[in-house]
Amino acid sequence: MYEDLRSYLSFLEGQGQLLHVHQEVSPEFEIAAGIRKTSDIAGPALLFEKVRGYAGWRVLGGLFATRKLVALGLGIPEDQLLERYLTLEERRIEPELVQSGPVKEIRWTGNDIDLYRLPIVTHSEKDVGPYITIGIQIGKDPNTGVRNVSVHRMLLMGKDRLSLWAPPDHHLGRMILKAEDQGKGLEVATAIGVEPAIIVGSQAKVPMGVDEFYVAGGLRGAPVKLTRCETIDVEAPAFAEIIIEGVTVPNERIADGPYGEYPGTYSESKQAPVLKVTAITMRRDPIYQTALTGMPVTENHTLIEYANSAVIYREVKKIVPEVKAVYMTPGGTFRHHVVVSIKKRSQEEARNVILALLSLGLGLKQVIVVDDDIDVHNPVEVEWALSTRMQPDRDVIIIPRLACSTLDPSVPAPRVSAGWGIDATIPLAGREKFAKVIVPGVDRVNYISSKN
Ligand code: MN
Repeated sequence: MYEDLRSYLSFLEGQGQLLHVHQEVSPEFEIAAGIRKTSDIAGPALLFEKVRGYAGWRVLGGLFATRKLVALGLGIPEDQLLERYLTLEERRIEPELVQSGPVKEIRWTGNDIDLYRLPIVTHSEKDVGPYITIGIQIGKDPNTGVRNVSVHRMLLMGKDRLSLWAPPDHHLGRMILKAEDQGKGLEVATAIGVEPAIIVGSQAKVPMGVDEFYVAGGLRGAPVKLTRCETIDVEAPAFAEIIIEGVTVPNERIADGPYGEYPGTYSESKQAPVLKVTAITMRRDPIYQTALTGMPVTENHTLIEYANSAVIYREVKKIVPEVKAVYMTPGGTFRHHVVVSIKKRSQEEARNVILALLSLGLGLKQVIVVDDDIDVHNPVEVEWALSTRMQPDRDVIIIPRLACSTLDPSVPAPRVSAGWGIDATIPLAGREKFAKVIVPGVDRVNYISSKN
């Protein structure tokens, strides 16, 4: 695997999946516009070489703009991503503590700390300001000392102040509240510009108490190398481009938002914890990384897809041993809608699948269950199953008011959503009348191809 982001970028370049942008760009909207476009055309990751007002900085964006880029980051063929991710996510490798690393080449402490010298990007039209969007936050549980690794957006509030959007239904948010119960702030390190396995590993849906650096180690097949921070008792990746050290200010909250979020809508202004920055360390010639979210598909969707799909796959497998495929759909923001195909052996098992998935609290709003002869990745086939195998009065289940982590603007109250499921599987008795019409010999037609 890759020692650091730079060695991965060299690899991507060799694959034709990294474009150097030499034209000067502003961190306000222009970098995000490039990422938007490359996401929409399934293009390469972008390395902006010249950022207006930030001499000496380069900005990386769209590193996970497509599934292909996620697959390259993990060194897995794209069509085997979920299957291989399921195994790799469970292979835990302990991180290694090293004395120092390139991220210590430059150290800003005291009066030298100045977040305005970082090329923090403003992304979407109505965003309240510039946000750090792909910082890897590392904190320790105040009760157990176990590390947590996750990604939360941070709004630039001052030369040494950031918001930290970590709500209580996320592990870091809960740790901030636990520290406040003890009258303390929570020490948090934010690493920017790390190799892909660390970013993907930070998104794993593992229980609180599992250090995601162990998951990242498993994904990369080698320990993540960590080094101690300068001003806080936290360890962070030694080969990162930048580390921002800080402490949350107990019981202080600040207005955060609007911000263009993963549903493709703006999350309104909400009260978020505040981080007081205590040091910034970085490499010489640092690469600042940003990530776009908003209308699907962006890197905020591709990065969450496999972590969520793995949870769903394992849950369905508990009910139906023969799970064929799980697909979180792009229009469903890779969070709200899922299609599951199963080999059904018991008449009503699709209904159990629907109830189990809606009750997970993952943010699922719509669950469609189809038979194993339907390709879940093909929206026409899925709709065909709905149109020929399903009766709404019999096969639709609606569950009102479930606890649910979601930014869906249609919900009746925060962290609440209804859910619905559709059983589009064929009844076990009388399957013949539902069989697909097939013309024999299509696979032997060699005088035309789909390339024509
Ligand atoms: Mn966690």
